[in-house]
Amino acid sequence: SAMKKKIDSLNDVFIEELSDLLSAENQLVKALPKIAEATTSTELKSAINEHLEQTKKQVNRLQHIFEDLGQKPPRIICRGMKGLLEEGDEVVSRSERSAARDAAIIGVAQRVEHYEIAGYGTAEAHASLLGHAQAQELLHQTLSEEKAADRRLNEIALEHINSEANE
Ligand code: FE
Ligand code: ZN
Ligand code: FE
Repeated sequence: SAMKKKIDSLNDVFIEELSDLLSAENQLVKALPKIAEATTSTELKSAINEHLEQTKKQVNRLQHIFEDLGQKPPRIICRGMKGLLEEGDEVVSRSERSAARDAAIIGVAQRVEHYEIAGYGTAEAHASLLGHAQAQELLHQTLSEEKAADRRLNEIALEHINSEANE
């Protein structure tokens, strides 16, 4: 494979982070419909489907940031997200439609959100330091959506699904 460019400045780190996030979001756009389909709870299903629509907008924001920076996104694969989604596939393939499966899906989905929160938090801080105000604003919007998605999943688990799974 072609030699990848060296990462030797904060700007290089920032571009790498944005590319990783873009790969992660693109993987989610592909995976979320299947995950939503595997759920039983209509509340969980709509939370995932609504986050899918947000995720498509998050992809657009990242593409917009690359355009503003005059850069083409380097083609890298977010192996962290790939691994999390493989674990999601495993949980679904080893379960039947049930509250227990829903509880497991929430567990995977919250790991995904926390992974994204970490990535966007760092990228926003780097955008700020580098003086990319527009990028910072867009990254902040997405970070807020990821945090809200995580809180919603938490509420659905605590208010309904965990106790149903435990019946
Ligand atoms: Fe996202
Ligand atoms: Zn990653
Ligand atoms: Fe997300």
